[in-house]
Amino acid sequence: MPGEGKHVERTVVRCAEGHLFSTASFPMQNLGAGRIGPGRLIRCPQCARLRSAVPAELAKLSQDEIRQALRREAAEFLA
Ligand SMILES: [Zn+2]
Repeated sequence: MPGEGKHVERTVVRCAEGHLFSTASFPMQNLGAGRIGPGRLIRCPQCARLRSAVPAELAKLSQDEIRQALRREAAEFLA
């Protein structure tokens, strides 16, 4: 990832409504590209309710979208 020397530990995810935000606890390691199905329930900061969210494909996002998503962090994570 083209960074500015800052390591990003959060995962950018997309809720079922299309909002982009980030979470520190998404178990990205267990998700292969072909296994992104139903997603995980995460409280979307914009929906303000639990949504099924899947990891966003960073390659398809602009730097702005990624930056905004990283600023918008999910308050809680429920498996
Ligand atoms: Zn949302």
